[in-house]
Amino acid sequence: MTVYRGFVADTPDDPFTGAPLRAETDAALLVRDGVIVERGSAATVLADNADEDVVDLEGGVLIPGMVDTHVHLPQVRAIGGLGMPLLDWLEHRALPEEARLADDAYAKGVATDFLDGLARAGTTSALVFGAHFSGAVDELFAQADASGLRITSGLVVSDRMLRDDLHTTPERAYAESVELARRWHGHGRLRYAVTPRFALSTTREMLDACEQVVRDVDGVWFTSHLNENPREIETVNELFGPGYDDYLDCYDQHGLLGERSVLAHDVHPTDRELQRLAATGTVISHCPTSNASLGSGLFPMRRHLDAGVRLALGSDVCAGTGFSLLKEGLQAYFAQQLLAGVGVPLTAAHLLWLATRAGALGLGLGDEVGDLSVGKAFDAVWVRPAEGSTLAVNLQHAVDEPDAVARLFALGTPGDVAQVWVAGSPLL
Ligand SMILES: [Zn+2]
Repeated sequence: MTVYRGFVADTPDDPFTGAPLRAETDAALLVRDGVIVERGSAATVLADNADEDVVDLEGGVLIPGMVDTHVHLPQVRAIGGLGMPLLDWLEHRALPEEARLADDAYAKGVATDFLDGLARAGTTSALVFGAHFSGAVDELFAQADASGLRITSGLVVSDRMLRDDLHTTPERAYAESVELARRWHGHGRLRYAVTPRFALSTTREMLDACEQVVRDVDGVWFTSHLNENPREIETVNELFGPGYDDYLDCYDQHGLLGERSVLAHDVHPTDRELQRLAATGTVISHCPTSNASLGSGLFPMRRHLDAGVRLALGSDVCAGTGFSLLKEGLQAYFAQQLLAGVGVPLTAAHLLWLATRAGALGLGLGDEVGDLSVGKAFDAVWVRPAEGSTLAVNLQHAVDEPDAVARLFALGTPGDVAQVWVAGSPLL
């Protein structure tokens, strides 16, 4: 057994319902077989376990492993394409890079860069938009299995309006998806997610094929995009036509909403869509740097909360500008500040919740990870800035624990992540 001693901060209960940050400057966690078995003040835990190894995490803050609910495998090498709205950015930046994953050797390198990027940013669980090529997705799963990260992913399927080399048929999409799910769904910490790119690039027949995979593979997840950009929404409504109420209805009519469904963005929802998201338990992955970078808009968080929609955070690399959920938390805060009068005033507790526990709940991992309570796996991040750095100075001068966590979100980067554990095993 090992005792981890340091400044520990987490959010076991929802700050949106008034729960406070849980933080203690000199706390200790006793970990056995990767699971937290005792938690308390350092004095108490150390006195109870005098013979155990102690890992002293002096300086910095220990937080739960972060949970990214929307991030694209093939885009790790294409971050930073600024100055384009969604559909232009897809054509000129994202899709040319995605096409390169047809080459298995290239895809192998991308999977390595991608998983390294997650771990170095302190992300221990993620719902990953895979590639359009089953070889690349197979490679991701194989490397994710070896890495120890908790990864849910799947083959991205489309049959129109992208580029010919990224299109497939509903029959082939079904067959390849079921085969990948057979190999990897439920294997170790891996799960399969049915992943049509978005309604714009999928015909009704393709959504039928997706529905069939969801029916045929027990416990499979579903993910896609929703209501990101006005031109995208207009095109989806034209393509699907009068038989569909709105963008969300494209997924709903094909049986694709529910508590294991996660849709990214929803920057421009209708009231009907919000009600339907809440009624089905579908999770919205809020991706704030992506929304800002592509000029998609400011996320109406207040309307989602009022409607009772489940929310989590996503980096959306590479429309998002990096893997760090500390940065996404800060950008979520900025966006709400800019929504004068209708934004949600986010505190440090909200940001930590969105980056950790909300994501764990959104991905159905709430019993295992997301906070550092007794009984949870020791998935944790030690943010320990370099001596003399501005973050180190600011942590030393924080007025209280919530202030220290706010400073962590204001200044923290992947360069400040000193160690990451999944179920007690160090990743860095
Ligand atoms: Zn995305």
